[in-house]
Amino acid sequence: MAESCVISVAITGSVPRKKDNPAVPITVAEQVESTHAAFEAGAALVHVHVRNDDETPSSDPEKFGRFRDGVRQHCPGMIVQFSTGGRGRDQAARGNALELRPDMASLSTGSVNFPTIVYENSPALVTDLATKMQRFSVLPEIEVFDLSHLHGARRLIDAGLMNERPHVQFVMGVKNAMPAEEHLLDILLTEMRRVLPHATWTGAGIGRFQAVVMDWVLARGAHGVRTGLEDNIRVGKDRLAASNAELASLATEALAKHGRTVATPAQARAMLGLAAA
Ligand code: ZN
Repeated sequence: MAESCVISVAITGSVPRKKDNPAVPITVAEQVESTHAAFEAGAALVHVHVRNDDETPSSDPEKFGRFRDGVRQHCPGMIVQFSTGGRGRDQAARGNALELRPDMASLSTGSVNFPTIVYENSPALVTDLATKMQRFSVLPEIEVFDLSHLHGARRLIDAGLMNERPHVQFVMGVKNAMPAEEHLLDILLTEMRRVLPHATWTGAGIGRFQAVVMDWVLARGAHGVRTGLEDNIRVGKDRLAASNAELASLATEALAKHGRTVATPAQARAMLGLAAA
């Protein structure tokens, strides 16, 4: 087990939430500012979706580029991860920003039901996104919404489209997808160690499961934890989170409870096999 642990912050997401929590950053300027505060609070990796001004999801590479540049300027060494997630976006545009060569990008290797939609990731789309990530030297974070998605990642490695060291994120607590159950995490980890033995890994608990999933993954020696307003807008049951930075500092407390230290950007890059900044 690594002594330090990478705190990843998912700052915005693709579901309009500003009306539920005004702290969710929407414009690129707000996103950079919110990321910077989370960086100061301990986050070494930022996961981003960009939005139009009316809060609908955007695929505009110009926004992704401005975000990346802002983070590089204000958060030295921080790992930038673009979402290639599908909600509310044209399928063909999902890989649009990969040519900007972010450090990482999320990659879903299969389809699943979400609360009200089918999150569709056809084999052809998965192959196309993985091909682009390889071409532009982008490290994939495999979003595992179902056990079969581990095998989807294995197939990409066997096809020569991905190296043996992807970063894996288990996503628990999305309605209609994988429930947040501790014993399921053990099953998933056993399978991951069999089919992706060189992968690094983390877990994301959605909504009220954010803190408990963080506890479960830390108890099992995860390389990282994930927090942020994309996944959860509350602290406890009754209070809105004040910011992404507040959620990041709660993550640092969870790390301390498990005897882990907060990974610096340099430590995070080394752990995930990324080049130094
Ligand atoms: Zn996302």
